[in-house]
Amino acid sequence: MPASHPCTTLAGKLRRTLVAGLTLLLFAAPSLSADEAPARREVRIGVLAFLGAEAAVSEWSPLKRRLEAALPRYVFRLVELDHARMDAAARAGELDFVVTNPGHYVELESELGASRILTLDSGKGRSAAEALGSTVVARSDSRDLDTLADLRGRRVAIVGTEAFGGYQLVWRELAALGIDPARDLSALKVVGYPMDEVLAAVERGEADAGVVRACVLEGRPQWASRLRVVGRRSETDHPCATSTRLYPDWAIATLHHTPPELAKSLAIALLGMERGDEGMAWAVPADYQAVHDLFRELQIGPYAYLREPTLMVMAERYWPWVAAAAALVVLWILYTLRVEHMVHLRTAELRAALDARDVLERRMRDSQEQAEHLARLSVLGELSGTLAHELNQPLAAIGNYAQSLERRVDNHRLTDAAVREAAGEIAAQAERAAGIIGRIRSFARKRVAQRERVAPSELVREAVALFRGMLASAPEVSITDELPPDTTIEVDPLQIQQVLLNLLKNAWDATRELAPERRPLALRLARTDGTIRILLRDQGPGLDAAAQARLFEPFFTTKRDGLGLGLSICRRIAEAHGGRLTAEAPVEGPGMVFALSLPSHD
Ligand code: ADP
Repeated sequence: MPASHPCTTLAGKLRRTLVAGLTLLLFAAPSLSADEAPARREVRIGVLAFLGAEAAVSEWSPLKRRLEAALPRYVFRLVELDHARMDAAARAGELDFVVTNPGHYVELESELGASRILTLDSGKGRSAAEALGSTVVARSDSRDLDTLADLRGRRVAIVGTEAFGGYQLVWRELAALGIDPARDLSALKVVGYPMDEVLAAVERGEADAGVVRACVLEGRPQWASRLRVVGRRSETDHPCATSTRLYPDWAIATLHHTPPELAKSLAIALLGMERGDEGMAWAVPADYQAVHDLFRELQIGPYAYLREPTLMVMAERYWPWVAAAAALVVLWILYTLRVEHMVHLRTAELRAALDARDVLERRMRDSQEQAEHLARLSVLGELSGTLAHELNQPLAAIGNYAQSLERRVDNHRLTDAAVREAAGEIAAQAERAAGIIGRIRSFARKRVAQRERVAPSELVREAVALFRGMLASAPEVSITDELPPDTTIEVDPLQIQQVLLNLLKNAWDATRELAPERRPLALRLARTDGTIRILLRDQGPGLDAAAQARLFEPFFTTKRDGLGLGLSICRRIAEAHGGRLTAEAPVEGPGMVFALSLPSHD
């Protein structure tokens, strides 16, 4: 809104009439040709009117008169509108130009692409670029209220929070001092237009200070003695006292659809206005950057979006929570790292323990195999004392047959039949000897355990043959096979033979000194459910309960030269096959019954 008012003196009126006449003469030709046109185009100029439509019309009538005189082809209409209505009309394309204050102009520029073509040049010592400022006033008798910083904690009267010159300019200065009006003032009293209301509120003591546009106070001499300026800035050439920085004056702007030709004609016409003619003049468009800066700093108008919470703003506002969350995340990361480290350590420990166990197991297996081998050798050792006798038989028989052949040769009684018979016997005896030696060799061999599917009856018979083959005076061993035909077990045959041989040898040990009728041993093969049982019964002296309890302990022996390992190894072999080895007294009669149970695999 222009600060100057149309001159109302008689001389002024005369001058205006003269200028109007001259302008008519100047533009007479185009006007005539325009008259020939069917209709004159209406040009609608929206003017911001916050003091009411009448005030606006009287303020801007020089503009209308000038344009009508200069551009007679057009009909100019001033449309007085408040902020909101002007926005709506501009958006709806109902206006060709807008005349508004710098704050509102910058908003329209950002939102609707309004583009200033001229800035009002109010004169009176003010440049168009530095025309507007605000003044903070207080009662002359007020104390401790000299600078804007003194407003902290005071009641301040304003026209409205949306008023550019009536509040926002001062707001920027307060913000620069670190004062947030909403928080740091004791009250912000909105009194509305006209601005004199602000002066009245301060005068009545309803507010400690008030904000008015610069030059308002100077235009009201009646207030001059009662009010004074707070925070007066001295560095400007502004003719009135201001408490704020200065901003460019009102602008006239085009809108999107305004024809450029029309804009150009209008600009030329207005630039030609002399202040002396109509009390109004226009200058080339000023720089409105200062207005942008104000809005940006206050985060209002087109920069209101800056108030929307960004990540940084949220982080600043909720920093204790953010810090707590960050601390939690850090703790969690540390915890995870620690857990991972622990898992790593424990895994390494576990791996080392497993390796150690593997080594131990391997060693145990080795020593068990060693022990089994030793046990086998020990059985053989005990039995092989008589092995020589056993081998003597076939060897003696072979020798006999060879000698008889020799004799027959000497006596010339050698017949083909005799040679054949002798050779056959020699071969049979040699085979018997070879069989005994072969079985002993394979039994004594050092080897790794291996499983085979075999018939238990076969296994038992072989063990008995080996046992009897190694003894000169072997006891009778009867075999009662109650197993269904084709019964098989999956075992290491040599290990099971070792068990049977051990049991047979122990039984022989227990009975060989006894009367001949107690020496025979009885083997029985039976099946209960899925278990094959091989039972060896002897008729020896048996064992008392204490000895029976310790029977399977390693190194338990009652023999002078015994090792006491046989039965413990036998039980371990039985268990390794998923079976059992037990000993008990027979239901009737003397002796012991040893039972080897093995799972059947049919
Ligand atoms: P060793 O034969 O070297 O003593 P074993 O472990 O084979 O070792 O036998 C342990 C002990 O069990 C024998 O010393 C013996 O006292 C007893 N024993 C084993 N079998 C019989 C049996 N059939 N009758 C009586 N005692 C037995």
